[in-house]
Amino acid sequence: MVGGGPAGLACAAELAGRGIGCTIIERREALGGRAQELACKGSVHCRQCDVCRAHRLRDQVLASEAVTVLTGVELEQVERCSGRYRFALRRPTEAIDGGRCSRCGKCVEACPTGAMAKRGGRIRLDRGLCRSLQGLECERCVSVCPVGAIDLFGEEHLSVSGGAVVVATGAREFPPAADPRLGWGLVPGVISSMQLEAHLEGRSPIALGPKGKVAFVLCVGSRTSKAGTQMCSAVCCKYSLRQALALRERASALGITMFIMDWRGLDGEDALLRELEGSGIQVVRARPAEVVEEEGRPAVRYAGDGTVRCEAFDVVILSIGLIPALDDGTLTELGVPRDELGNLVDQGCGDRGLFLAGSCLGPRDIERCIEDGISAARDAIAYLEGGDG
Ligand SMILES: Cc1cc2nc3c(=O)[nH]c(=O)nc-3n(C[C@H](O)[C@H](O)[C@H](O)COP(=O)(O)OP(=O)(O)OC[C@H]3O[C@@H](n4cnc5c(N)ncnc54)[C@H](O)[C@@H]3O)c2cc1C
Repeated sequence: MVGGGPAGLACAAELAGRGIGCTIIERREALGGRAQELACKGSVHCRQCDVCRAHRLRDQVLASEAVTVLTGVELEQVERCSGRYRFALRRPTEAIDGGRCSRCGKCVEACPTGAMAKRGGRIRLDRGLCRSLQGLECERCVSVCPVGAIDLFGEEHLSVSGGAVVVATGAREFPPAADPRLGWGLVPGVISSMQLEAHLEGRSPIALGPKGKVAFVLCVGSRTSKAGTQMCSAVCCKYSLRQALALRERASALGITMFIMDWRGLDGEDALLRELEGSGIQVVRARPAEVVEEEGRPAVRYAGDGTVRCEAFDVVILSIGLIPALDDGTLTELGVPRDELGNLVDQGCGDRGLFLAGSCLGPRDIERCIEDGISAARDAIAYLEGGDG
């Protein structure tokens, strides 16, 4: 399994449930994919956002003896020989040799970013904060260590093989800076929907004020021939509506406006639409042209009732869509075709024991990714039982 998001996890859990061993190859340090960074959107009552389903699957997979989990690994090479796939992988080794380290703390003092820190009686490196690992000149920790216990660039090589492969590598979020008209990173108070997820989860609070005014701008990076993709993101209406209702639940005096083109993907979500009706959330059918700064606040400019309007808010949330992940050299070696929009296409791949699942096939929500993962597992079992694997 390449990719440990909801689709890959569901696939691994299904295989394990049927007594078939598998290995998850995950690039990030932890399993869960994007769901790891998403918030539950129903603090008082469940809004069926499925984020907790993804968390439960992760726990189930981590507890399973049939699943080997390799996190923090990069694919180096893949080859198929005598009907079996073989992946060559690379993984960074522990930067600090615990056996040699005397815990003197000199590296912690020398580190300019706080990447080296004493935690639980040991010194640990936060790789994301390390200047040297971001390609910048530093290595101060290495030069001050009196016992030579630090190697920032050490790596080990691993190899994994199997009779079938499931690719569940996900999609990418549209980077909001790629549409500068909407002001992300330029106008104070403009944030992305992923930043709002961190706020809802309490990881990175945003000052909304009890009576503040908040706007959601939907379809950012989707359904456009300008910045982004022509595809509908399939998830942004649903998650934005749940986010807006969750915000309203927390601060009932908050003024919330949602700028939408139309509602998509809300079939079967009658409960959400009923909740919206009674919520006081204002819905404006318009695709805003830009977000500008007006007296230090973000103001949304849009066409409404035949005139151009400009309305100021305290916070503007850009509901970013999902777009195809960038080409990955090693996955390209697997020869999976893409459609004209860049999504992977399951075209005759099953004949060679290669199956696809989740949002690498196009934007979709967690529920659909889980269904995909389960069906990829069943297809892989049928392939292996067919004797071709
Ligand atoms: C702001 C926001 C809020 C959302 N809220 C919701 C919600 O409330 N409910 C909902 O149903 N959906 C929500 N979604 C959509 C949800 O995130 C996706 O449906 C889901 O994460 C897709 O799962 P996946 O397994 O296909 O991919 P991902 O979750 O993207 O997982 C793919 C994994 O593959 C790994 N990977 C990629 N390439 C490689 C490689 N070469 N080698 C090894 N590993 C690799 C990645 O690191 C990642 O961990 C939201 C999306 C956004 C942007």
